[in-house]
Amino acid sequence: MSARAAAATSAMIGLGAPLQSSTCSRADCKNAGRWRLDWRNPRIHSTDRVKTWLACDEHVEYLRDFLAARDFPLIVSELGTTPSPRGDEQ
Ligand SMILES: [Zn+2]
Repeated sequence: MSARAAAATSAMIGLGAPLQSSTCSRADCKNAGRWRLDWRNPRIHSTDRVKTWLACDEHVEYLRDFLAARDFPLIVSELGTTPSPRGDEQ
């Protein structure tokens, strides 16, 4: 748990826009992000328009379910790793 602040500062991002913050995207959560969720709303975003949320361990499932329930294309990856462009779970 203590290493996650350092991991969140990583600039090694190969997909999506630069991250604007390093904290969890869940409202009112101040935890450092450990996971990134790259997602897109097909109704309003073109294919190259990807939004990125960060999530702490506590909220990664919540945010993933939130997006999955809307059928948004979604890639969940551990921060600091390269997201799979194919979007498969795991
Ligand atoms: Zn959180």
